[in-house]
Amino acid sequence: MVQGKCALCKKTSNLKKSHIVPKFVSTWIKKTSATGYMRGIKKPKKRMQDLPKFPLLCGDCEQLFSKLESYFASTFFHPILDNNKEEIAYDENLCRFIISLNWRTLVTAYSDQVKVDPWIEQHLNRAEEIWRRYLLGESSNLGLYEHYFFFLSNIKSEIVLPKKFQWYTLRATDSTLASNKNVVFSFTHFPHFCFVSTIFPFTFSDWEDTKIENNGKFSTKSQINDYYFWDFLVSRGKLLLSSIDGSENKQIGKAIEKEPEKFLKSESFLVMIEESKRERLERIKELPKAIRGLIDIIDRSVDNPELDILQQKWTNYTQYIVANALSYIPLDKAQIIDGLLQSTILLADENNRVTQFEFETQELIAKFMATICKTKNEQRELLAQAIDDLVKKKAPNDERIIVVFTFNPLDMEMPFETGYYCD
Ligand SMILES: [Zn+2]
Repeated sequence: MVQGKCALCKKTSNLKKSHIVPKFVSTWIKKTSATGYMRGIKKPKKRMQDLPKFPLLCGDCEQLFSKLESYFASTFFHPILDNNKEEIAYDENLCRFIISLNWRTLVTAYSDQVKVDPWIEQHLNRAEEIWRRYLLGESSNLGLYEHYFFFLSNIKSEIVLPKKFQWYTLRATDSTLASNKNVVFSFTHFPHFCFVSTIFPFTFSDWEDTKIENNGKFSTKSQINDYYFWDFLVSRGKLLLSSIDGSENKQIGKAIEKEPEKFLKSESFLVMIEESKRERLERIKELPKAIRGLIDIIDRSVDNPELDILQQKWTNYTQYIVANALSYIPLDKAQIIDGLLQSTILLADENNRVTQFEFETQELIAKFMATICKTKNEQRELLAQAIDDLVKKKAPNDERIIVVFTFNPLDMEMPFETGYYCD
């Protein structure tokens, strides 16, 4: 906690360090990384930089924002991502939420962006005051500013985007003031969603579809056809990727710079992972659903905010090998595994106890367990134990990766937990 003036209500108080991007987003990012728990992967000790935090708001104002965040999480974020909802009615809370995001973005990016484009300062000041007074409930005047909100997952096919861009749209968080000689807007992005508030001019033509009014209906299909904006997004994606590469080089001292790491850190590694994923999706079309499910779990577990960049890339590399190995399982063997998998889950459910089976490929020693656990920790302990047992059983010259999948039918939110071991 820091003593200071709250940026919203201007009272002197204890300020909390808070993220621009709401907490439910980072929780979701962690949750959707299936490998919340990792074992046996070589780990350099340094930690990944956390999302930036700023001492900005007092406790009361934090509360104000957190209500809006709950509204967005329960009305849009989860229904769209978890239940594939496509149309959602909204009220004035949506606009308020967008303003709360983009006001935070404006305030935190203010001084840097004014240095770049001094002409924007007066426009920023005016927007900041109107939005702040609106958020505080001191005024209902929203000015002529427009607020746009759209879903990024249905990008039209005629828009050509770079390969790695998907990572930016689906997993990254970002916020900035964007300006050039004649436009300035505030922009906040988190996985799958984008929020833009105009600052100057007040209206963007061709954005009509995504404009948020006082109330109305939001559709995930609404898109922006403004190529300037897509260019902007692509450049943000590149910037974020390059800043990750940069901080990584600083973080990892020369002492641990060995060849494999160099490879893992390279651009070509990322491209290789992307490419192989695309080819794999083609290859596995014929495989039974359960095997495709296992591969999907591996694929979805690409980023875990708990891991630092190098750990992350070791994990990515292991995942790449595991997912590929699974995708090359011959059809007849895959069908047997599919049957075993389904009966394992059924048996666990019926008998209320752990059931499991093992299978092997040229690259893998794998185990699938259906665990009946009341807590995530219990499940993780079983997982760790299973990995230990397999390590002990393995012949000393056997260099295959051990992978254990656990599935907990009692856990509706995050039933899978996966662990690897490789020497
Ligand atoms: Zn305050």
